[in-house]
Amino acid sequence: MSGLVCPVCGREGRGVCLDCFLEKRPIEFKELNLTFCNCGKVRSKDAWLEYSDWVVKDLVKHSLRASRDVVVENMKVSVEGDTAHITLDVIYEGKKGSKTFDLPITRSSSTCISCSRIRSSYYEAVLQVRGEDLNFHVNKDYLMKADKVRGGADYYMTSMNYAKQKAHEFLERGYFVRESSKLVGQKDGADLYRVYVSVRHPDFNPGDVVQHKGKLFRVVSLGRLVRFTEVDTRKSTTYPINALKDSKVVVSKGEVRKGNVTEVRPDGVQVMDAESFQNYELPKAGGMKEGDEVEFILISGRMRLL
Ligand SMILES: [Zn+2]
Ligand SMILES: [Zn+2]
Repeated sequence: MSGLVCPVCGREGRGVCLDCFLEKRPIEFKELNLTFCNCGKVRSKDAWLEYSDWVVKDLVKHSLRASRDVVVENMKVSVEGDTAHITLDVIYEGKKGSKTFDLPITRSSSTCISCSRIRSSYYEAVLQVRGEDLNFHVNKDYLMKADKVRGGADYYMTSMNYAKQKAHEFLERGYFVRESSKLVGQKDGADLYRVYVSVRHPDFNPGDVVQHKGKLFRVVSLGRLVRFTEVDTRKSTTYPINALKDSKVVVSKGEVRKGNVTEVRPDGVQVMDAESFQNYELPKAGGMKEGDEVEFILISGRMRLL
C-alpha cells in the first residue's frame, strides 16, 4: 500500500479523488430546450434541421459545463420521451470514472426560415375595396399585405374564410360585393383556388335621390337591403343592394331644398323656396297646410316634394 489517500474522503489514491473533485466542481448542463417548427424541423444553433438524435446530442454537448481540469469523453445520449439519458466518462488527473445523468428536455415552437418565407408571401384571397369610405377593420393576423391602389386598397388575406366573412360584413353594410376565384395550381392533387372579393361603396348615400327602373327614390338607409322612399307615392320600399348597380344619383342630399307652404287652395298649393324665396305651384298634396315645412328637389326646373 502506497499510503496515499484522498485528503477529503480518505479513500485510497493519489490526491483528491474524482468523486470529491466532482462534488466541488460538478458537471452541469444548461436547460435542454428544443425549438420545433410546425413543419417538424428543429433549430440547431442558427440552422433548422430535420429532427434526429444527433441534434439532441449536439444540444447536450453544447450545454455541458465542466471544470477545465477534467476531460469528458465517450458521451452517449439517448432520448426517451422528454428525458435525455446521458452517460459519459470523466478523467481527472488520470483518474477515470463513468457518470450518468437524466435531464428533462423542454420544447418550444417557432417558425423556421423556409416556413416564414412561404408564409410571408402566402395569401388565399384578395379583398379589393374601392370607394371613399374605407373605414373598416381588418384582423392583422390574416393580413399578408395591403396595397394602396387607385380608388382604394387591395388586402392580401391568408385565410379564404376570413375574406368571405369580411365580404359578408361589407354586403350587410350596403356595399356592392362580387366574388370570383382563380385556379392558381394544385396541392396534394386538389385544385387550388384564390378568391378575389371586389367590394365597392355605392355611389349613393342616405338622403340622396336616385333613379331606379325609371322611378325616383330617396335613400333612407344602406344595407344588404337598401331602404327607400318612393318620391311619387311616398311609400317605403326596399331593394337588394346588388340590384342597384346601375342606379344613379339624380339629386344628392346636399342639393335637397327646404321650403314652406305659403298657400293652400282647393286646386293646389304654393311652396316658397326658403333660400331663393321663389314660389312654386304644385297640385295639392294631401294633408298640407299653410306654414308647413317641406323638403323638395328640382328636376328640370320642376319641383318634386319629398
Ligand atoms: Zn475523495
Ligand atoms: Zn418550418
